[in-house]
Amino acid sequence: MADASTAYLRAVEITKNYGPVTALDRVSLDIAQGEFLTLLGPSGSGKTTFLMCLAGFVEASSGRLEEAGTDITRRPAEDRRYGMVFQGYALFPHMTVADNVAFPLRVGRMARSERKARVAEMLETVGLDGYGDRRPRQLSGGQQQRVALARALISHPPVLLLDEPLSALDKNLREQMQEEIKSLHRKTGSTFVFVTHDQTEALSMSSRVAIFNHGQLQQVGTPQEVYEHPTNRFVAEFLGRINLIPLQQAQLDGGRLTGRFEDQVLTTAAGRATADAPVIAVRPEYMRLSQAAPGAGENGIRATVRDRVYGGAHSVLLLSSASGLELSLDIGSHADLLSAACGEQVWITWPQDTGVAMSG
Ligand code: ADP
Ligand code: MG
Repeated sequence: MADASTAYLRAVEITKNYGPVTALDRVSLDIAQGEFLTLLGPSGSGKTTFLMCLAGFVEASSGRLEEAGTDITRRPAEDRRYGMVFQGYALFPHMTVADNVAFPLRVGRMARSERKARVAEMLETVGLDGYGDRRPRQLSGGQQQRVALARALISHPPVLLLDEPLSALDKNLREQMQEEIKSLHRKTGSTFVFVTHDQTEALSMSSRVAIFNHGQLQQVGTPQEVYEHPTNRFVAEFLGRINLIPLQQAQLDGGRLTGRFEDQVLTTAAGRATADAPVIAVRPEYMRLSQAAPGAGENGIRATVRDRVYGGAHSVLLLSSASGLELSLDIGSHADLLSAACGEQVWITWPQDTGVAMSG
């Protein structure tokens, strides 16, 4: 976790208003040198605005930005020297690939021979050795995006800002490019700030994920922290399927939360939840189907199987409880689990320590 001594980029209470619209609402975030931080959130949540503030293209209405302890809030974009990659490739169509990649160096007046060597090295790094003389239109979408990455990285920027660079690509190419961007991050050691609205992409690529909603930073943590220990309902639901079970007559005792759901008593670690309308959140992969009531250390609720959604490696079983709460549960392709028939009454059980409590 970044702290005062390791923060390379630091945003302090950044707010951006566009007339009546608050695009960013007091966002404070520390970014460590060399990390791969992903800004994740739905469309309109402020991701691009925050990235543009880091880049220096958008001036915050209030708040402060620091780079290595120096206030850069008013530093112009060209003096920040950050690399940028956007969703569109924005290559110059009339220039060769090599000239596109060399473009930032021309502006910097580097000697011709050194420039050539740097371009060749960069093209090799992104796997486009021998493509220097082509025009962008002679390349596939993935190749064009690699040219954009090479151009953004050629001047060895300390920070690379990437705004949904893969969202225009189809699934397979997208997954391949995810690996390539991760590998570029390892090779360059630069600090990457990557924007996506795709939670799978965020979880699989990043050292940390910062989740935005309505211009507010909801939670920041490693992929595992935010997925396994979401601190609020929005984060819990945005990161994938989750079962949210409301508790009645809840009580906090010694760090544990206990309460009733239908005819069962459920208990879990209290986390940040209060006894005021708390909810237990459990990922479907922690839940099991059972013919027997929950054993020691387990929670359980009774439910009726409603539907089965086949998904290849992971199928999902949809169920509903007596009071109509909808639940989902991951099942493998095991014959015994698949045998649960629609309409059948079953137990759903899960270890008490795999749930997360939050305030409803
Ligand atoms: P995201 O990248 O997460 O989709 P944005 O940062 O683009 O979100 O937008 C956040 C909010 O700010 C949205 O409500 C958007 O309409 C608004 N917004 C962004 N840029 C401008 C602008 N230049 N003028 C007015 N409103 C803007
Ligand atoms: Mg955006």
